[in-house]
Amino acid sequence: MPAPLSAPNLTQTSLTLRLALPCGSCYTLANLDRRCLCCPQVASKAGAWMSTPALIAFDLEGVFLPEIWIAVAEQTRLPELRRTTRDEPDYDRLMHYRMEILAREGLTLADIQAVIATMEPLPGAVAFLDWVRSAAPTVIITDSFYEFVAPFLPKLHYPTIFAHSLTVDSRGLLTGYQLRLADGKRQAAAAFRALGFRVAAVGDSYNDTRMLAAADRGILFRPPANVVAEFPHFPVAATYVELEALLSEFLLR
Ligand SMILES: [Mg+2]
Repeated sequence: MPAPLSAPNLTQTSLTLRLALPCGSCYTLANLDRRCLCCPQVASKAGAWMSTPALIAFDLEGVFLPEIWIAVAEQTRLPELRRTTRDEPDYDRLMHYRMEILAREGLTLADIQAVIATMEPLPGAVAFLDWVRSAAPTVIITDSFYEFVAPFLPKLHYPTIFAHSLTVDSRGLLTGYQLRLADGKRQAAAAFRALGFRVAAVGDSYNDTRMLAAADRGILFRPPANVVAEFPHFPVAATYVELEALLSEFLLR
């Protein structure tokens, strides 16, 4: 015969109701010290979450992957292809420069994809990305192309990636590219804020700085010296441990 349940007193009921509030970031419930069970959000004594939901937007190459074009330059022995967004702020000029070299050498999309198939994420990138996706909604916004990044999706455990698209001719030569959205990185950060998120943005190059500026918190990860010199107001992380510390501080605000 089970013992009858005792009625909870008012203090217990109040405590239960307060702790049953879902986290404002990941929607799980708080534990006894008012911390979310799976992300660094903390509830106030009144039961409300102290911050609006957070979202983290990342660049791809230089943050989770090696620079694809540098790998192509090395395997094709064409050093002119080493030029990246780290060196050239004008993305359209950079892409036309690349396509002229590929056309001159007769290199096709399949040739580039063959190089990409040999590449792996940066050491530690997958574990870091797994952590950050458990801590907050996470989106990767790249100026690369779906045709290039698709082979990396299983290696990165299928994160959400926004990219652009390539156009090729009947021989497989690159003839152009289609931007999904002009100034897409900055527009994404601004749009996520308009949707009610606090946004942290992480990138390494010139083409990330407008996204970093549009976010509530911009962080440079392993940037080249010229980008650090030109944008000294962004904090810099040199390792995933440092990046995790900066993002944890942002999430706890
Ligand atoms: Mg990059």
